[in-house]
Amino acid sequence: MRETIAAIATGPVQGAIGIVRVSGPDAIIVLDQVFRPDHGSSMAEKPSSRLIYGSLLAKDGAVIDKCLACVMRAPHSYTGENMAEIQCHGSQAILSAVLTALFAHGVVQAEPGEFTRRAFVNGKMDLSGAEAVHDLVTAQTAQAAENAAAQLEGAVGGKIVEIRQKIVDLVSEFLAVVDYPDEEIDSVLFENACEILHNATRDLYRLAESYEYGRILREGVPCTILGRPNAGKSSLLNALAGVERAIVTDIPGTTRDVIEETIRIGAVVLRMYDTAGLRDTSDPVEKIGIDRAMKQASSAHLILAVFDSSDDISDEDLMVIARTHGKRAIAVINKSDLPSAINMQSIRRHFQHVVAVSAKNGDGLKELYELIPKVVGMDGAVYDGGIITNARQAAALARAAERCEAAFCAAESGMTPDAVVMDAEGAIAALGEITGQSVTDDIISNIFEKFCVGK
Ligand code: GDP
Repeated sequence: MRETIAAIATGPVQGAIGIVRVSGPDAIIVLDQVFRPDHGSSMAEKPSSRLIYGSLLAKDGAVIDKCLACVMRAPHSYTGENMAEIQCHGSQAILSAVLTALFAHGVVQAEPGEFTRRAFVNGKMDLSGAEAVHDLVTAQTAQAAENAAAQLEGAVGGKIVEIRQKIVDLVSEFLAVVDYPDEEIDSVLFENACEILHNATRDLYRLAESYEYGRILREGVPCTILGRPNAGKSSLLNALAGVERAIVTDIPGTTRDVIEETIRIGAVVLRMYDTAGLRDTSDPVEKIGIDRAMKQASSAHLILAVFDSSDDISDEDLMVIARTHGKRAIAVINKSDLPSAINMQSIRRHFQHVVAVSAKNGDGLKELYELIPKVVGMDGAVYDGGIITNARQAAALARAAERCEAAFCAAESGMTPDAVVMDAEGAIAALGEITGQSVTDDIISNIFEKFCVGK
């Protein structure tokens, strides 16, 4: 029989209210040992999901707190087991005392993600839903949260279950034929298979492709600031971030390594990388920094190319321009507070998006803020929830799409039913990894380890 687990579900900061969750066969019995309702005899008699006011008791019967508690009976709870929730005052001292009282009655500390793991094991949600719970807890923007909520509702899992079921039905039909090899195979069976597998392949590739977008939604847009030394890269990063993070000096070559900062601009989270200024240098340390800058720029989803408007375009600026070719880039013409000496025509020839700013006094930053979401393609994008946000699901989807396509090719070329079945079964297994219908314990453990305790 499973143990009854408990954990503090609220964060490790002082809040007005803190929550302790309990799940397992003894959850309600134990709640009655540590909580005494002000009215009525026991929590076991109270209806499910109703908050009851009462006294929280230590093992020796001393009152720890006056607070609320509720019970949720299996199977109608988050985990599918009997659950109890205690909403007490939010000091860490009270929360620890609640746990101590529960542990004294045989309850054990929950592992990270154990509540959600139990919900998955008890069929309350599929694996993609469980991963969506993690995304919801860690969402950094409203859009990321919206997408995770849609996934929890089954936007991805539901779609995958539907596609998987069609392939499962198809395989059953083919297996029936394989069992009677002497009989003529009905051509309608192959035609039907071609249509189902073609549509499934198309839908699976489409979902797999949404990962690039989904990753950005979840993790933020990797954005590199490039520019020659002293163009004002660090000043721009500081102005955007609103804090003194990067070192600003007028000695060229000060930012020698890559500095990272996360900045939220409306719905977009930018993972900003301020890099060493690009120039020819004999300093080995600076050279390493410049190499890193180049590497960072090549993997960036957006480059902010910073130019000093008080000076004309130099060879170093040309190095920066060369790095932006074929990339999403914005030319940020900095130091607009100084008299302009830069050849703007030349800049406009190389960049579709140009904005003049002064990192010093803040001019133009509003325009830059408005431009960034447009350039990265995240302004008013339509979300139907069918967006893949994690690498595990994306990899499984790509495998499923490939196997499904191979099954389609086999069916289209009229190969033996065995060939169709083999690839179709590969697709079914890969899809089952996403929903959790066919997944190893290692993968499951890996997923839930990333959760926080109490979820
Ligand atoms: P980086 O080497 O490209 O990171 O450049 P920094 O941000 O360290 O700035 C180099 C110098 O330019 C510093 O003295 C800054 O104060 C100055 N600077 C940066 N932005 C502006 C600006 O918008 N206007 C003016 N006048 N000076 C700036």
